Amino acid sequence: LRHLSSVDSIVREVAAESFGASIRPLGQLAGGYILASDEEGLLLIDQRAAHERILFDRYRAQEAARSAESQHLLMPETFDLTPAQAAVFDQVVGELESYGFGMMRLSGRTVAIRSVPADLPAGEARSMLSEILNTLDAGRRTEARAVLREQIALALASRAAIKLRVTLAREKMSWLIESLLKTSSPTTCPHGGPTVLRLSARDIEKNFHHS
Ligand SMILES: [Zn+2]
Repeated sequence: LRHLSSVDSIVREVAAESFGASIRPLGQLAGGYILASDEEGLLLIDQRAAHERILFDRYRAQEAARSAESQHLLMPETFDLTPAQAAVFDQVVGELESYGFGMMRLSGRTVAIRSVPADLPAGEARSMLSEILNTLDAGRRTEARAVLREQIALALASRAAIKLRVTLAREKMSWLIESLLKTSSPTTCPHGGPTVLRLSARDIEKNFHHS
């Protein structure tokens, strides 16, 4: 029992430069984390954070290349903006369209949504638009366009990322890891949190008193 207190916290954030070599998925934990190994030890990858990073980078790249993919709704959905949302809408409609939203302002504060960005649940078009407009409303109307575009990508990625608990087949785990490694910042989600934690073999040995 005396030894319990001497065990350090040994799960650590992973430095970008030490992430990427020989990663092998081992399995899944609690439906939300991929357990993997690399040359240094054990890795815990947060599925949702990793997927957010992948989607964020993809949306940013498509927006920059003006090649955003849209999915057309079978029936255009109408949406009534609040006065605050309507004010934001007029300022950001161009940015939203560059991400694949197809929208038309009807009479008053009513908007028709004809298409939404690819990868997003089409059935949630209204709530998605509402959420994005609310996010952008937080006193940031005068932000530079570049900041606005980044905020939209962040909102889209958060929305489209896989939900916390979902069972992944082995191939899907590998796909997620490989895709994550190709992003601009594989060790952080677009909100700045870690996508991966490591339990190193050295720390494990040390805490089992093998050193
Ligand atoms: Zn995040």
